Amino acid sequence: MEDNVALAAAASRAERIVVAFALDPQLLASDRVGAPIVQTFFEALNALRAQLRSIGSDLAVLRGDAAQELSELAKRTGARLLYYNEDYEPDAIRRDASVSQILRAQGLEVHAHLDHVCIAAEAISNESGDAYRVFTPYARRWRDAYAVAPVLPVDSLGAARGQFIGASDLGRTLDVPAPEAFGFRSSPNYPPCTPNHANDALDTFLAEGGDVDRYADERDFPALDSTSHLSVQLRAGTIGIRTCFARAFRVARDVRRRPSVDTWISELIWREFYFMVLKRFPHVATGPFIPAAAGIAWRNDEAEFSAWCGGRTGYPLVDAAMRQLNETGWMHNRLRMIVASFLTKDLLIDWRWGERYFEQRLADADLAPNNGGWQWAASTGTDAAPYFRVFNPVLQSKKYDPDGAFIRKMLPELRDVPAPAIHEPRAPIVDHHLARERALGAYAAVLGKKR
Ligand SMILES: Cc1cc2nc3c(=O)[nH]c(=O)nc-3n(C[C@H](O)[C@H](O)[C@H](O)COP(=O)(O)OP(=O)(O)OC[C@H]3O[C@@H](n4cnc5c(N)ncnc54)[C@H](O)[C@@H]3O)c2cc1C
Repeated sequence: MEDNVALAAAASRAERIVVAFALDPQLLASDRVGAPIVQTFFEALNALRAQLRSIGSDLAVLRGDAAQELSELAKRTGARLLYYNEDYEPDAIRRDASVSQILRAQGLEVHAHLDHVCIAAEAISNESGDAYRVFTPYARRWRDAYAVAPVLPVDSLGAARGQFIGASDLGRTLDVPAPEAFGFRSSPNYPPCTPNHANDALDTFLAEGGDVDRYADERDFPALDSTSHLSVQLRAGTIGIRTCFARAFRVARDVRRRPSVDTWISELIWREFYFMVLKRFPHVATGPFIPAAAGIAWRNDEAEFSAWCGGRTGYPLVDAAMRQLNETGWMHNRLRMIVASFLTKDLLIDWRWGERYFEQRLADADLAPNNGGWQWAASTGTDAAPYFRVFNPVLQSKKYDPDGAFIRKMLPELRDVPAPAIHEPRAPIVDHHLARERALGAYAAVLGKKR
């Protein structure tokens, strides 16, 4: 409820505010969600409810078709205005259009607000008015726009205090279910997800001498674990993106700290970039950004896919990374790049298989950055890695986990293997050098022969 644009806007107009969340059983039954994200979302919902209850209100938890449920809630509570935060995912855009249409027909005023990114997708264009396809000029333009008109956090909770509907006036509301109610298994290893955790994580990360000051040097080394872990919170909305940018730019005023925090700011802009790409090129949600890449002859070997998912490729760093994903619901960015390159290049498996598996296993699974990351690794996206850049999993391992500390942590069976031997493949499912040649052939056949 802190730094939430729709809530702040509602507070400026409404006398009473009902906060609602509609659970969609169809989405929960689909293969696009998994236990980690369900657990973290439900935890965030419980925290939101606790916050509302502590001030005498409650959260309206609904279940079913969002349009129908919200329509009934509006009737029950006499609501005349609907405020919501926009979503850039094609399915969500369709859902929100249907909700808006039905509630408008019922006589409500409907207001959509930009919340999940700082700067709207359409607001940053090149000289011809087209969307950027390359990150660097986009980021330059983004920084110029932000410098002219910084998008500051909104004090939504402060603004709305005293206006939330009384719990007794809200009427019927459901419990936030346990993930098990939808067939998901909870785990204490998945990241915690509440506003308190989010604020603490940001404070700790940005504190003088905190991880942000080592970020530029250390962010590629999984064993050092010096990234913010805020992706889960940004995904669930337990922290606002405006807050993250504003706090980071404040740190950057200190010239000593600027270079490192600026690297972190760039990563947040990558997030904005991929949301922009999804909004302005919605075809990426289902297919490659580069049309010709639709012709890549993927091998799609089920047994190899299953070995990749289960961390049984024989390449220690790839397997350690997949174990981190499967056990904790999160994976370090460098490792996401390595396992995605391995799946799409070494195994020649369609990036959409990997994208889907990540959706099921990541607590921060988010269509825009997930799709962007996968299409980058598969060389099918905007500003993607050139197809002839195929990560060598052994060299990546030597470079980014030099003493094998991360491998040893995730693969205790290799505990006693010293570096550099720990980086070497053990019963690998493919030979990297042969696989690389095979991938280059398949890619060159459709994307040209430049090498
Ligand atoms: C194949 C692949 C799949 C990915 N899937 C997701 C996903 O589903 N959800 C997701 O949030 N991120 C995804 N990423 C991006 C990135 O890996 C994660 O955002 C990051 O690892 C989260 O850890 P952190 O919060 O500690 O990041 P930090 O390094 O602390 O970065 C801060 C924030 O910047 C954003 N960010 C960082 N790196 C990227 C990036 N490369 N692209 C876009 N935004 C970025 C995230 O919001 C992150 O929380 C993916 C990357 C790849 C290569």
